[in-house]
Amino acid sequence: VTAAGRLEQVAIVGGGLAALRAAEALRREGYDGRLALLSDEADPPYDRPPLSKAVLTGEREPDSTVYRTPEQLAELDLDVRLGTAVDELGLADMTLRAGGQRLKFDGLVIASGARARTLPAIPPLAGVHVLRTLADARALLAALGGGPRVVVAGAGFIGSEVAASARALGLDVTIVEAAEAPMTRVLGPRLGAACAELHRDHGTKILCGAGVAGVDGEGALSAVRLTDGTRLPADVLVVGVGAAPNTEWLAGSGLPVQDGVICDGLLRAGHPRVLAAGDVARWTDPVAGSMRSEHWTNAVEQGRHAARNLLAGDGARPFRGSGFVWSDQYGQRLQFVGSSAGATDAVIAFGSVDERRFLAFFVRGDRLAGAFSMNATPLLTRCRRLVDEGAELAGALGELGLDGAARVPA
Ligand SMILES: Cc1cc2nc3c(=O)[nH]c(=O)nc-3n(C[C@H](O)[C@H](O)[C@H](O)COP(=O)(O)OP(=O)(O)OC[C@H]3O[C@@H](n4cnc5c(N)ncnc54)[C@H](O)[C@@H]3O)c2cc1C
Repeated sequence: VTAAGRLEQVAIVGGGLAALRAAEALRREGYDGRLALLSDEADPPYDRPPLSKAVLTGEREPDSTVYRTPEQLAELDLDVRLGTAVDELGLADMTLRAGGQRLKFDGLVIASGARARTLPAIPPLAGVHVLRTLADARALLAALGGGPRVVVAGAGFIGSEVAASARALGLDVTIVEAAEAPMTRVLGPRLGAACAELHRDHGTKILCGAGVAGVDGEGALSAVRLTDGTRLPADVLVVGVGAAPNTEWLAGSGLPVQDGVICDGLLRAGHPRVLAAGDVARWTDPVAGSMRSEHWTNAVEQGRHAARNLLAGDGARPFRGSGFVWSDQYGQRLQFVGSSAGATDAVIAFGSVDERRFLAFFVRGDRLAGAFSMNATPLLTRCRRLVDEGAELAGALGELGLDGAARVPA
């Protein structure tokens, strides 16, 4: 028995990756009490990364992304309640409310994830899409089947992947990106520029430093208007401008919320028996400080960690994530580990950016903060530990047998 006491009714809010991994970890760690998973989606937990990749190109069926069969979920003795939007958390009586339902809990994992952001200037109109859910993917897939002219607003990970998939279908694709290059938030302008070239070389038009001002269309989209007055004729607009954490249901709960549920380093959200995991969690990393991640591996790592810490009571351990992220665009594998936040330089440690096979380190002072690779998976895998330890650049290059000649501002 831990200091937290024996748990008998654990609830998980959310039906995504972090929620599923938390449920599985709870059972694996020996929790044998009641376990409920409440999701507002109609689909059981499924994998989102293929939605912008193989599902859009038609290489995978949308339904093939569902993680577990009903039998596998039954083996977990998991009370899965789909179509159940939790709208209130009462901490005083440890109760969740979802419509007319009430559910008591003595342990809670908040895994309500994030939703696609939209642009206020764009009204809901046939042809305007976001891509977050399986339902979104089904709708976009159907729209792309009609051979439309496609505009993608935003060249982050998802926008870039949607553009690549639409090009793979042979469609006319234009990306509109407000920053000077794709994925600058993670990669900085120089490596971001390499990703812009990747788009251009595959016939995707990319307009950087450009904003979407509005759309034209009677009943259905006919054009996208840009802030500089340009009018792009289009049948489909995919808005890929990031995600917003789903925290509205926590209003009034007393839990601190600010761009995510605020957690300590143990993933506890202001209460020893309420933990958060995945895209919704804003936790305190011992090195990087306050962080929120919107990536697959983090959802896996935090789902597990929150489950273990919930059971561990006083034995809870701080969370340290790997910060591992990947993206597939035009058949190229992009991978990232650690963080570029606060990095002063990017060092091309191996290969060549022009040849699209390279490894770059992001350095803070002379220590590794992050690494980015294009088509250099084995090398990136080897430097995960070095980045995690914040190893010294010279030592890391030596250990990997690399010269690390080119150093550019990050
Ligand atoms: C198209 C796409 C492609 C991606 N590709 C990659 C990739 O290549 N690499 C990578 O690292 N990451 C990728 N990601 C990101 C990754 O999928 C997410 O980080 C991950 O899904 C987060 O999991 P989560 O469980 O925290 O949140 P989510 O997956 O958002 O799940 C949260 C769930 O909770 C539900 N919910 C919300 N509020 C409530 C409520 N009040 N009551 C009940 N249920 C609620 C939501 O509907 C949802 O089902 C991609 C994401 C998308 C959308």
